[in-house]
Amino acid sequence: MYDYLIVGAGLYGAVFAQKAIESGKSVLVIDKRKHIAGNVYTEKIEKINVHKYGAHIFHTNDLSVWNYVQKFAVFNRFTNSPIANYKGEIYSMPFNMYTFNKMWGVVTPEEAASKIAEQRKEIIGQPKNLEEQAISLVGRDIYEKLIKGYTEKQWGRECKELPSFIIKRLPVRLNYDNNYFNALYQGIPIGGYTKLVENMLKGIEVRLGVDYLENKDELDMLAEKVIYTGAIDAYFDYKLGALEYRSVRFETEVLDKTNFQGNAAVNYTDRETPWTRIIEHKWFEFGKDENGNDIPKTIISKEYSSEWKPGDEPYYPVNDEKNSELYNQYKKLADMENKVLFGGRLGEYKYYDMDQVIKAALLSAEKELSK
Ligand code: UDP
Repeated sequence: MYDYLIVGAGLYGAVFAQKAIESGKSVLVIDKRKHIAGNVYTEKIEKINVHKYGAHIFHTNDLSVWNYVQKFAVFNRFTNSPIANYKGEIYSMPFNMYTFNKMWGVVTPEEAASKIAEQRKEIIGQPKNLEEQAISLVGRDIYEKLIKGYTEKQWGRECKELPSFIIKRLPVRLNYDNNYFNALYQGIPIGGYTKLVENMLKGIEVRLGVDYLENKDELDMLAEKVIYTGAIDAYFDYKLGALEYRSVRFETEVLDKTNFQGNAAVNYTDRETPWTRIIEHKWFEFGKDENGNDIPKTIISKEYSSEWKPGDEPYYPVNDEKNSELYNQYKKLADMENKVLFGGRLGEYKYYDMDQVIKAALLSAEKELSK
């Protein structure tokens, strides 16, 4: 009998497992996929660590989280600075003086601020949705060229129907700083995320290709307690209805050239281009292999966003009002399962970044393990 059965070998599960083992508990980790590391999984192809489930750039303001991950990997100095391609016009991201200069020809922060102030006037009162929030942050021109098309592709919904917090993830800066994140600490684990998670799971029994929900009764008998990091609605067999998720499909190509787009991420912000962004994986590690040599080929992934349907991988919770309400009902059921703790992006139906997932797992492990 194990103390803990951990369902899901992604970040949440791996952190919880690591903390549990550290405090002398016995742990079994299972995952229905054939690999560990959940959606941060990377795979080495042509000497390039390919982010198989989309770009992951680790960033945090939380020193305790930063110190924690350093125990399992050395991080490089990668700083995320995606660019936006709107019908062939290139803009800097996040929204900063380079963006405003290209859009309006303004040079000083005052000029940019007054341009935004002028365009923001159309929004009266508190912004009620993502569209109003975006216009209120950066004005209509930027909304139309850099936000509207991308967001509608990404979420499959009108900007008027989306919650404003989504756009508040992006910084707006009146300086020339292309760093996408307002984070004190940032980087990519050298050698890939899979290795990072592998190091977290060192010495821990992991069984892959095991579907918990398919074999729930017998698996539950193996442990005192279950840490479940899968989708919360799936756990309850969708009995209150299905929560909505966005899924992502990647078209990955190996190209016989050294440089495709000159940057790790290019967002296609028009409505017509069917993909949301193209990732060129080698740039997460500056185009070099592990020995510091140039890599002759390159690998790109086009990212297509779609509504989740059964059988797809869920990626993003749709935290609008309707879904949040349904989640709250599931949460009540979850709280009554005294043998099971729910955690992570899917278990808590939360648009967590990696550092937030790690933090949540650390806190929950601390609480649980000190009992
Ligand atoms: N967004 C946008 N234009 C961009 C990049 C992002 O309008 O070029 C919006 C979009 O609505 C997206 C949100 O900002 O969902 C948050 O972007 P972020 O990069 O944080 O999304 P993630 O990397 O988690 O997909």
